[in-house]
Amino acid sequence: MKNLIDKLEKEHILTKSEFVTLLNNITPQLSQYLFKKSTVIAKKHFGNRVYVRGLIEFTNYCKNDCYYCGIRCSNKNADRYRLTMEEILGCCEQGYSLGFRTYVLQGGEDPYFTDDKMVDIITAIKERYPRCAITLSIGEKTKESYQKFFDAGADRFLLRHETADCNHYSKLHPNNLSAKNRQRCLFNLKEIGYQTGTGFMVGSPYQTVENLADDLLFIKQLSPQMVGIGPFIPHCDTPFRDKPKGNVDLCLFLLGLLRLMIPNVLLPATTALGTAHNTGREKGILAGANVVMPNLSPVMYRKKYSLYDNKICTGEEAAECNKCLARRMNSIGYEIVTDRGDYKPINIIEN
Ligand code: SAH
Repeated sequence: MKNLIDKLEKEHILTKSEFVTLLNNITPQLSQYLFKKSTVIAKKHFGNRVYVRGLIEFTNYCKNDCYYCGIRCSNKNADRYRLTMEEILGCCEQGYSLGFRTYVLQGGEDPYFTDDKMVDIITAIKERYPRCAITLSIGEKTKESYQKFFDAGADRFLLRHETADCNHYSKLHPNNLSAKNRQRCLFNLKEIGYQTGTGFMVGSPYQTVENLADDLLFIKQLSPQMVGIGPFIPHCDTPFRDKPKGNVDLCLFLLGLLRLMIPNVLLPATTALGTAHNTGREKGILAGANVVMPNLSPVMYRKKYSLYDNKICTGEEAAECNKCLARRMNSIGYEIVTDRGDYKPINIIEN
């Protein structure tokens, strides 16, 4: 198996059957072998610096009904909220003082936030913080809408493809949503010029290792600047309430593979990883991740943005969260930095 990891390190790609073989033969020893390489590569590009993104969960209204997600429209137990412009700008102000230079606006697909309203929000943030990056994570839109947000100043966009396999996709989503449209959105985002992030849940219901191999191949084909992955965690008010949660070691192994596949990719150690395991985010960094995304949402709304059960960091103020994360990163020899943390193409790094 080590030879396959060596090959991935050298060629940055494997065949589907090679990925399947690797994923079927994960052992603690093999993982250690992989992480040794993936952390060396991460260190080469980022040193011991971990980028922070301030996550602002600005609405939990959603018109979609994804079977895995706690804020799906048919969850009548979800207590819905929307942040006002003032509240959003308040989050940014707090984040700025903590040293955050990227704001991630994430939400359900909420029709209240029309294109015009989003453009107003982006414009207002950019006016006050012209040197900060804005990342959007607001789901599937037309190319025209994505272009409007980009023109208003949005820099990056996160849209996980969730699963590359159309069949598997249809087991996770109602049939008004399709893998094909989501993938089309991703290519549109890249074409417009966004730093684009995709990704998937590890251990989502019905997922096979073949699906994961296809996910890796899709990511290679898209060649995104960011990849977000985290374990699936069930939510009690969804059809998947009784499905098992995703495997943390598998998630870490995939982070390591992604680092070898796209050496300079921006790779977060996600909140879901931190929820599935007490030191999940630290383990993520030690598997090759280089980004963390602390929560900047006002504390009174945090618990309401519940995509899955027992989400961490829903009780503390942003400043406390930041301190805790900084301490966690220091404990493994890394430090959180004040930096936009843009994607740097390899040729720029090497020159
Ligand atoms: N509405 C936006 C943001 C989605 S929330 C969009 O469509 O992109 C961000 C991510 O959380 C999702 O892409 C999904 O991969 C993840 N997520 C949702 N429910 C989850 C669960 N139960 N366990 C783990 N991750 C989940």
